[in-house]
Amino acid sequence: MSDAQQIVTRIAPSPTGYMHIGTARTALFNWLYARARGGRFVLRVEDTDRARSTPEATQAILDGLDWLGLDYDGEAISQFERADRHREVAEQMLAQGHAYKCFSTQEEIAAFREAARAEGRSTLFLSPWRDTPESEHPDAPFAIRLKAPREGTTVIRDRVQGDVTIQNATLDDMILLRSDGTPTYMHAVVVDDHDMGITHVIRGDDHLNNAARQVQIFNAMGWPEPVWAHIPLIHGDDGKKLSKRHGATGVMEYAEMGIPASAMRNYLARLGWSHGDDELFTDEQALEWFDLDGIGKSPSRLDMKKLANVTGWH
Ligand code: GLU
Repeated sequence: MSDAQQIVTRIAPSPTGYMHIGTARTALFNWLYARARGGRFVLRVEDTDRARSTPEATQAILDGLDWLGLDYDGEAISQFERADRHREVAEQMLAQGHAYKCFSTQEEIAAFREAARAEGRSTLFLSPWRDTPESEHPDAPFAIRLKAPREGTTVIRDRVQGDVTIQNATLDDMILLRSDGTPTYMHAVVVDDHDMGITHVIRGDDHLNNAARQVQIFNAMGWPEPVWAHIPLIHGDDGKKLSKRHGATGVMEYAEMGIPASAMRNYLARLGWSHGDDELFTDEQALEWFDLDGIGKSPSRLDMKKLANVTGWH
């Protein structure tokens, strides 16, 4: 991005349950980063998975952001409602030769994988349709796949993780549009981030592998990549993956405990981001101090004792 460009960050939760404190922290980091720099902070509800997305879960996200005082710019965007645009871009990639029609059926792909597994070969599926001329195409349903580079590497230049290099030979040609015409999550995210003018993608490092694929789509379209910042996840106080036994994992559970939102913001800001020894700070200070450079590379720990100290909750 150029220096003069306005910063745009986003929170892009999937509405499939309650609002996790990890999502709340990601929202806070994005909000702080944008707000302190005169930028925009936008909300995209990633409701493409129709089987798992619910209106209640969308409401829980809105409630969580509202409680924490993380206001977003403009209307909340529904990813599902943008499916026409996702299709349009997939067609464009097809026309430009960055993607191709793949007629392999799910059964064929599953059979290939099973045989590869049985024979101890790589299960990476490389579609036989990648270089087949149009004249040899059957009249049958097809998926649209990215013609991903087979040689060389894809590098994610990450502000937290450093340069992460992926060998292209380890990635298959990802599906952009399924044979029923629905876009895949990976494709939808890139089109949306581009169209919404997102300059910084700050999110959990469970999405780092996805970033390599997303970089390939950005490159194929000739779109500028956003700045990437993948934050280590929040763990429990024993260093294990956060679960209910470590404490509350839903952000509204903290509201129900009577914790003031400002104290919760203070506590969340410190999960993974450090600024000297400062434990307590005001919103103004958080806005002034927050930067991606202060985000550590190791997972942060949810510490209910510290939470009690910071929030005055017992
Ligand atoms: N929808 C994803 C999630 O809820 C986030 C995707 C992203 O931030 O790019 O984990």
